[in-house]
Amino acid sequence: MSKVYLGLGTNLGNKADNIAGAIRNIEELIGDVVRQSALYGTKPWGFESDNDFVNAVVCVETRLSPHEVLAMTQQIERSMGRTEKSENGIYHDRIIDIDILLYDEQHINEPTLMVPHPLMMERDFVVEPLSEIADMEKVRKIIG
Ligand code: ADP
Ligand code: MG
Repeated sequence: MSKVYLGLGTNLGNKADNIAGAIRNIEELIGDVVRQSALYGTKPWGFESDNDFVNAVVCVETRLSPHEVLAMTQQIERSMGRTEKSENGIYHDRIIDIDILLYDEQHINEPTLMVPHPLMMERDFVVEPLSEIADMEKVRKIIG
């Protein structure tokens, strides 16, 4: 079993429902959600929008590889109706965004899959919920 931390974000529609729906899909397709942070209300990061975000982080025990987890998170994003993809630092409003923050102690450096997520420690909307459910000293060691 591997432990994967996923960052969830939504700034459209019923945001609490979107997070709950994402977690149900994660349970079904990725593995057991063993820890779950509170929901955090945050301002859009990296782009202008009137729609504030709700963010959360979950810890999942999975038998899937990192690439399989990515395929599933993208499938969940699509099935929940996410259309626009961020490219070249252009961000959009989104029903759901699921980012892989950490996968055990693995480091993966491919354009389509970077783990640990390269910007996670610069984003309060990740660090605050992650601090609730993970040992940040260990996290910093993994990031190096
Ligand atoms: P963002 O989350 O930055 O708003 P997207 O969710 O649209 O952007 O994802 C853009 C691309 O980032 C995806 O096509 C995916 O392959 C890539 N990517 C790289 N590393 C990761 C990761 N750790 N978690 C999720 N997606 C990642
Ligand atoms: Mg994403």
